[in-house]
Amino acid sequence: MLEIKNVDVYYDKNQSEVLREINLQIETGEIYAIIGPSGCGKSTLLKAISGLTPYSNGEILLNKEKLSAKHHTIGLIPQNYGLLPWKTVFDNILLPLNIKNRQIDKAFLNYIDEVMEKLEISTLKERFPNNLSGGQKQRVSIARSFVLQPDILLMDEPFSALDALTRENIQELFLKIWKEQNITTLLITHSVEEAIYLGTKIVIMSPLPGRIIKILDNPVQKVENKRTSVEHLQIATDIRYIMTKEWKK
Ligand code: ADP
Repeated sequence: MLEIKNVDVYYDKNQSEVLREINLQIETGEIYAIIGPSGCGKSTLLKAISGLTPYSNGEILLNKEKLSAKHHTIGLIPQNYGLLPWKTVFDNILLPLNIKNRQIDKAFLNYIDEVMEKLEISTLKERFPNNLSGGQKQRVSIARSFVLQPDILLMDEPFSALDALTRENIQELFLKIWKEQNITTLLITHSVEEAIYLGTKIVIMSPLPGRIIKILDNPVQKVENKRTSVEHLQIATDIRYIMTKEWKK
């Protein structure tokens, strides 16, 4: 279980409060989809969890141990994709595996090839990030996290640069990999539809300083025709009602 307990984050030498009293208890294998207005601290939350940004108060625990990049494997798909420009696509994908001293045998190489194939980036293996489109960089960043088989996966608008059809295909691929690996996931998205399609829970945040206003159970995960079900329409209406009420204050 991932526990975020009373976490506050300040920037500018404690002058600006960005996140206030964040509390989340995420059971292993849940996908928490986070929706909040622009600038409310969603990316900051993922950075605090991944250890890139320090938090002032509170604690973040994974299975009762302090979460740290040293002792745990944290997959992060940041908004800027986080690729090293001097490394090829393939070396970028292998980088976190090498850092973690992961054994890469033939079967694992086949698995990496399979993921790259499904993300349609196999032909880009030897290219450098500067020669890729935004959507291609995003898919490389997704591949890198998917093959890492992380303890937790943090995704900051991971599908935003993709066209509608590719996005739906990659959402499917994500759900397939998530089911196989049972990865505890936090996903930030601007799209209510995406939150409902992917989240087992949906978290709605307030404007700055970001607080958690509501955590909704998502019944859509358990129905057929997820994108067009009555349950989808109902929860979308609930989410929009909360956003309209809480974000305009
Ligand atoms: P979101 O992801 O919800 O759009 P962010 O977490 O990116 O929000 O940013 C939240 C607030 O913190 C914004 O006001 C932003 O300008 C500010 N901020 C983000 N990063 C820094 C930083 N490194 N130093 C100072 N302020 C920052």
